[in-house]
Amino acid sequence: MRPTWAVKFRPTDAYFQGRTAILATKHGKEQVIAPALASLGVSVIVAPDFDSDRFGTFSREIPRTGTQEEAALAKAEAVLAQMDADLVLASEGSFGPHPQFPLLPSDRELILLVDRRHDLVLRGEVLSLETNFNHATVSDLEEALAFGARVGFPEHGLIAMAQANPPPNTPIFKGMQSEEQLQRAIATLQAYSPRIHLETDMRAHMNPTRMQVIAQAAAQLVQAMAQGCPQCGWPGFVACEKLPGLPCGLCGAPTGAIKANRYRCQRCLYEQVVPVTATVADPSQCYFCNP
Ligand SMILES: [Zn+2]
Ligand SMILES: [Zn+2]
Repeated sequence: MRPTWAVKFRPTDAYFQGRTAILATKHGKEQVIAPALASLGVSVIVAPDFDSDRFGTFSREIPRTGTQEEAALAKAEAVLAQMDADLVLASEGSFGPHPQFPLLPSDRELILLVDRRHDLVLRGEVLSLETNFNHATVSDLEEALAFGARVGFPEHGLIAMAQANPPPNTPIFKGMQSEEQLQRAIATLQAYSPRIHLETDMRAHMNPTRMQVIAQAAAQLVQAMAQGCPQCGWPGFVACEKLPGLPCGLCGAPTGAIKANRYRCQRCLYEQVVPVTATVADPSQCYFCNP
């Protein structure tokens, strides 16, 4: 296929304008998701009585089952089953080593939009190194506060338990945002273990850094919603594949740097290859000039 320089997206107002999306959350994610969707004329309301914790918690009580995508879909399906809704949003975060930089913690945020009226699923996804995801073993308040200072406490909440894998029926303290709460947790938990486990509370309402990454994922979703296929108009005409091979600026050999993005329509499978703005790669990325 001959590359073209820009995609002529078709407008998608007819799909979304004036609709209401139900958000499956109980952790305040509407703060960042609702303003993003408002730009497309979609209002967001939080599913009443929605207990997202039964789909898994970060604080160990309930393990999450399946992949991040399956977990988000399960939340969306639950809302669709329980309410008379045809547009649902669900979000799911996942924390762990960055796939390319395993020494650095990362936050992968996924937001799914499930549209029953059009039988359409769209996604926004961001992998960010901006996270305070961390843990420590401490034996007193001083050590706990030193850990807290590294992870943005008290604006960011903390979780405490006797051990990283707490024995059944031992207390877990969540959402701690004051020195007094921390002190009380340590005193209680030291009845079980002299050294206790502390970790960052990753629930969105306890973690402003995570909330910002969720906002970025929401922006990605809005972009997917707004980009209609040039051929059939279906929303979600987004880059689905990165094509390496940008030529080296010194010797012209293809490098691992991205030279273009391939866009594809989910419905009619129309494709378009869009070159990146750079025409050559830095020689430091060349297999020959910088082996
Ligand atoms: Zn199409
Ligand atoms: Zn080269």
